[in-house]
Amino acid sequence: MGETKSTAVNSGTENGKSVTVIGLGPMGQAMVRTFLKNGYQVTLWNRTASKAAELVAEGAVLAATPQEALSANELVVLSLTDYDAVYAILKPAAEALAGRVVVNLSSDTPAKAREAAEWLAGHGATQLTGGVQVPPSGIGQPESSTFYSGPKDVFAAHEETLQVLTGADYRGEDPGLAALYYQLQMDMFWTTMLSYLHSVAVAEANGITAAELLPYLTSTMASIPNFMAFYTPRVDAGDHTGDVDKLAMGVASVDHILHTTKDSGVDTALPAAVLEIFRRGMAAGHGGDSFSSLTEVFKKAAA
Ligand code: NDP
Repeated sequence: MGETKSTAVNSGTENGKSVTVIGLGPMGQAMVRTFLKNGYQVTLWNRTASKAAELVAEGAVLAATPQEALSANELVVLSLTDYDAVYAILKPAAEALAGRVVVNLSSDTPAKAREAAEWLAGHGATQLTGGVQVPPSGIGQPESSTFYSGPKDVFAAHEETLQVLTGADYRGEDPGLAALYYQLQMDMFWTTMLSYLHSVAVAEANGITAAELLPYLTSTMASIPNFMAFYTPRVDAGDHTGDVDKLAMGVASVDHILHTTKDSGVDTALPAAVLEIFRRGMAAGHGGDSFSSLTEVFKKAAA
């Protein structure tokens, strides 16, 4: 660790603002720097202590143990890979959890978030679950946003500090809600980005570069919000009238994409999966309905 200090006694700052951050991946490091820039005294801990060196040089205090990091401040921000990492760190340090507010910004499922909130409550701590919606470069930008859920009074008490990192979008008391909203966003993000990469692969197989394709794909993406705005009230009302589109037409369209992919010598797994879902909708009798009826197909499959 060289010059890094291993003391975590929180003497507080002139303005009394202090926080503990556990986890120094790219996200945790960006958070520590943002807190420091905003005048916070930051105590930190990370499994790989060497990642703290630069931050200590910038003014943070490295705790020798997770217990010490937890003891330093009421507010503890966790920025870890997942909840397995959370338990790996907190279980051996559980006796230092009483009275802490643990802002858990580690991604995982809503069920794991609820379970962790209960586990923390059992040790006298309160969890605020968070789902950060921006990459590390978005930390410290007021237009960035993070979902939060958990006890409203606890959120309100710490909102000002959380706003230092990003805008804070409180979703409700259920500790699973922030994780759920985060996963809903990621569901759409990964599927969309995969469709982008697939389209690029087909383009490149035909001698078109990703750069040449970009304006056209951007234009398609820009039209998506209008489609969502049109279909949203219908989906909420369970109205899948086939007046502007029909699932049967969609099947033919996806089939063309599948064959274009195959003819280009590109992997067909993605359009084949899409076609299979459209065909399930046909088999369920939705051929004359809008393709929005696939939402009913998805829900049935999950039951
Ligand atoms: P990383 O996966 O790089 O974070 C790793 C952190 O978790 C490190 O501090 C690492 O310690 C620690 N860790 C992992 N496993 C263990 C373990 N078993 N025991 C102890 N510590 C462990 O992620 P990021 O910093 O990129 O992100 C942090 C969280 O934020 C993640 O949940 C991520 O999904 C979420 N997020 C990230 C975004 C991004 O763009 N990066 C965007 C939005 C959310 P060590 O340094 O020792 O390996």
